[in-house]
Amino acid sequence: MLAPLSARLAKPLVLALGLAWGMGVFAVEGRVQTESPSTAAPAASDDAPEPDIRPHLRELIHKPERRLPPVESASREAGKGEKVKPGAAAAPSAPVSMAELRDLIDEKIAEVRAKQAAAAVLKIEAKSPKRKSSAHVRPVTYPRGKEASIPTPAGAPRVSSDKHGKHDLPEPLGHEVHWAYSGDTGPESWGMLKPEYRQCMLGKRQSPIDIRDGIPVQLDPIQFDYHPTKFRVIDNGHTIQANVDPGNSITILGKRYELVQFHFHRPSEERINGKQYDMDVHLVHKDAEGHLAVIAILVEQGNTHPALQLVWNALPLEKGIEQASSVPIDLNQILPEHKQYVTYMGSLTTPPCTEGVLWMVMKQPAQMSREQIGIFSRMYQMNARPVQSAQGRMIKDGQ
Ligand SMILES: [Zn+2]
Repeated sequence: MLAPLSARLAKPLVLALGLAWGMGVFAVEGRVQTESPSTAAPAASDDAPEPDIRPHLRELIHKPERRLPPVESASREAGKGEKVKPGAAAAPSAPVSMAELRDLIDEKIAEVRAKQAAAAVLKIEAKSPKRKSSAHVRPVTYPRGKEASIPTPAGAPRVSSDKHGKHDLPEPLGHEVHWAYSGDTGPESWGMLKPEYRQCMLGKRQSPIDIRDGIPVQLDPIQFDYHPTKFRVIDNGHTIQANVDPGNSITILGKRYELVQFHFHRPSEERINGKQYDMDVHLVHKDAEGHLAVIAILVEQGNTHPALQLVWNALPLEKGIEQASSVPIDLNQILPEHKQYVTYMGSLTTPPCTEGVLWMVMKQPAQMSREQIGIFSRMYQMNARPVQSAQGRMIKDGQ
């Protein structure tokens, strides 16, 4: 562009003003003319003016009415209206619009979190005010009378392919996300199935564990206050569970926990020095604040267990429906003769894998007959979560 222009200008100048003076001008023009193509950075001379011009051109094209207001307000509006359009927001004055971008991103994150929190409240307990404020370490609370909804391991109907569960249940408990003990929705995937299940993947104090290298100490004895009690049996799609009437409790370190329900796993979830047992029973208790304490009783094959037979006798004909037992159960009969136990802090062993659960694993196993174990395995061949890392946790081994 400079070349033809300067050539056109140079000629009349030479003619009108004479050779000597004209040569001077030509020299100037010539210098400019030769400078442009021969300068070390011709590309730079092309690009240099563009940052000044282009953003303004863009503004004019996109928002002709906003030439005058400061760039920051224009970019704010552009950001709000167009969901953070990077070109418009970031162009002319980066420092200011970055801060605003951050605000917008924060807003977006808050929106998404609010939606997730709302979903979580629906899932478990809408009344609890603690849920939102303490997302990381929150006590597990369940309203009185809704103990059956405690996800240990009540929960969604499974989609496992074992012979007992070929078809999905019609969601008897109102859950929409399926989890299982194998396949695509198995334990390795639990944490990804639902935001509320993240602890299953990210938690640092998960259960079950292989119990070993505990510190040998004298532990406070667990004070059992169990009485013959009415109960109802339910096949919740993950296990057989017995929901018991109020009135059974344990006291440990001065804290009283009420028994809510007990259920079964096959094989045992806990291991002791690597040894896995045929089955285990989990007795789930909660204190007045909703903290959970679970007593695990390992089961090995042996004699018929008369008390646990009462649970089998009351098996419901259909999944998801409670069957009341006509005979009360005395849970003292489930407890081993020797009450030494191992204790550690862990989690629910089923989604949502909530932590802060006090575990007490009885060291002496109970016995069930081969037939009794066989009855359970006809329904649940395998419903044990794999052992989780003990992560250097304190394990106290009562002597
Ligand atoms: Zn359990």
